[in-house]
Amino acid sequence: MTETPPVPRAEILARAEAAYLGLALGDALGASVEFMTPREIAHEYGVHREIIGGGWLKLKPGQVTDDTTMSLALGECILFNGGEVSALSCARAFDLWMRRKPVDIGNTVRRNLMLFRRSGQPAAPMSEHDAGNGAAMRVLPVALATLGLSEATVRAACRAQAHVTHHNAVSDAACEFLALAVQDFLLGNSLQQVYRQRIFPLVSEHAAFAFGERLRRANPSGWVVETMQAVLQALVNVGGFEHCVVDVVNRGGDADTTGAITGMLAGALYGRDALPQRWIKALDPAVRAACCDQARALVAAAPAPTFASRTA
Ligand code: MN
Ligand code: MN
Repeated sequence: MTETPPVPRAEILARAEAAYLGLALGDALGASVEFMTPREIAHEYGVHREIIGGGWLKLKPGQVTDDTTMSLALGECILFNGGEVSALSCARAFDLWMRRKPVDIGNTVRRNLMLFRRSGQPAAPMSEHDAGNGAAMRVLPVALATLGLSEATVRAACRAQAHVTHHNAVSDAACEFLALAVQDFLLGNSLQQVYRQRIFPLVSEHAAFAFGERLRRANPSGWVVETMQAVLQALVNVGGFEHCVVDVVNRGGDADTTGAITGMLAGALYGRDALPQRWIKALDPAVRAACCDQARALVAAAPAPTFASRTA
């Protein structure tokens, strides 16, 4: 993407912060209605648009779930390694995260982390069944730490973190797309540019991700294909940060995760000022601070000397 003029560094940092806060806000908002159907949500809330906690996890208002806490664990590990994404240290970081008794944990994540404890091998065996969204939901720190690096390097780093728990081609495609799209937005690309240069090629290569008004999915499952369909449809068809996160979360299903991923992309696209103040106030203050600090530290650790748009 060579036609975009360089974005000032302060703006990149602000957008990185918005992406990380967006992830946490979407997680906190969606968790209240995770596993509900759109009809149940409408019956209980009309439109669910406030961060109030509750849900099947009985969260406190502003509390986040594994989507955010696994991202923070991964980001901490990348920072500890000077910005490098190494499979073994990611596996150790996720294992440590699991030992701290997180509020929730996906089945595939648990199974393959238990396997890592026994085998010491940081990459799970390849499996066509491990196409849940557990690797995609936590990819943001990799996107930030590899900002400005070649696309091949970004993709390899995505796979290193992903394969600890999800060694699957469809999950890989989602993780790599999400990291590259976040970077595109941070570097000032418009939604139209990202559609043309990133979303269209993705759905051309992986027809399963194709989305459209007719395909509008209620109740997206934890399958990364349905997650991506819902996320992309909301991002492309619904304008503005709050509107697109509210739209995706009210579809129910894996709502904390579709909310988190949509919030991450929309935060990077629409920027820090687009995040609703009332949501930021409602978010757990410790999580808010951790997201902001980590976003800035990860971008600072990115080894690229300049922050012009990607040229390769
Ligand atoms: Mn979750
Ligand atoms: Mn979830």
